Amino acid sequence: MNIGFIGLGIMGKPMARNLIKAGHQVTVFDLVPERLEEAAGFGAGAAESPKDAAARSEVTFTMVPDGPEVEAAILGKAGALEGAKPGSIIVDMSSISPLVSQKVGTACSAKGVEFLDAPVSGGEPKAIDGTLAIMAGGKQEIFDKVLPLFQALGSSVTLTGPVGAGNVTKLANQIMVAVNIAAMGEALVLASKAGLDPEVVFNAVKGGLAGSAVLNAKAPLLISRNFKPGFRICLHQKDLRNALLAAEGMKVSLPFTSLAQQVLIALMNEGRGDLDHSAIATFIEDLAKVKVQKRVEILD
Ligand code: NAD
Repeated sequence: MNIGFIGLGIMGKPMARNLIKAGHQVTVFDLVPERLEEAAGFGAGAAESPKDAAARSEVTFTMVPDGPEVEAAILGKAGALEGAKPGSIIVDMSSISPLVSQKVGTACSAKGVEFLDAPVSGGEPKAIDGTLAIMAGGKQEIFDKVLPLFQALGSSVTLTGPVGAGNVTKLANQIMVAVNIAAMGEALVLASKAGLDPEVVFNAVKGGLAGSAVLNAKAPLLISRNFKPGFRICLHQKDLRNALLAAEGMKVSLPFTSLAQQVLIALMNEGRGDLDHSAIATFIEDLAKVKVQKRVEILD
């Protein structure tokens, strides 16, 4: 298939490469010219704009940071929608507000172009391995057409509802992850201040009801003080802001999400926005003046 791919960052680059590995012709675009050169190295063709990429493609993917970038890449001047032929498909895989997905979907259907929102979970390692969890929104028949491409990118692919549903699901995912990390931080700070070894506490609870994929992935990082991203605090802040904006529109109160978002903003102001989101726990550490690590160190 002829495929367009727009946005070659941490996630987009390995995803475009996996589509090439699956035997497709991929034409890429990014605002950063060096990323196009890098992609040429693994067999991608370069487009001059999202419009150019879409004009050459049956399916065009976007994987950019947030709603404004998605609107620029699809609806903007020389955006994908200007080049997309009627009947072709645009798939946005960025994590954005579902309200923006719906706006983009409506603009696409006015031009006879099909649209899916299909954000992912799993981060860079799973983008490289092609084992992402993909949560899509849109029409069943369009999802079915794109499914073989999704299967080159992910190991779990679910149609969750109409356009926007993919991003509602992704926001739900991000709420559970953020609040889970914050709870882990409070729990391990308490245990550490009490003089316990956090690793022993982690091993004691992980098989019980408090155990989770988040705990298994993030507690070892916290205990070993490894905050290399992973998933950056500033991106998680963006996701919770989008969750709160969507919730406000639906008159839904999300008190714990709101609190977690405030913590993320404070961490960004502390210069920790580019750390892995496991560093949410450092906010709780600062309040208690204790560090979660193998040997407890009282800070004052
Ligand atoms: P990134 O910042 O590494 O990459 C974004 C890329 O988009 C950059 O190369 C940038 O130059 C390009 N770009 C921005 N605006 C553009 C435009 N108008 N036209 C063309 N290119 C444009 O971000 P990322 O980590 O790859 O994340 C992308 C999306 O995936 C985000 O929505 C993020 O929340 C989501 N996500 C990321 C992870 C992760 O672990 N990094 C995991 C799941 C989901």
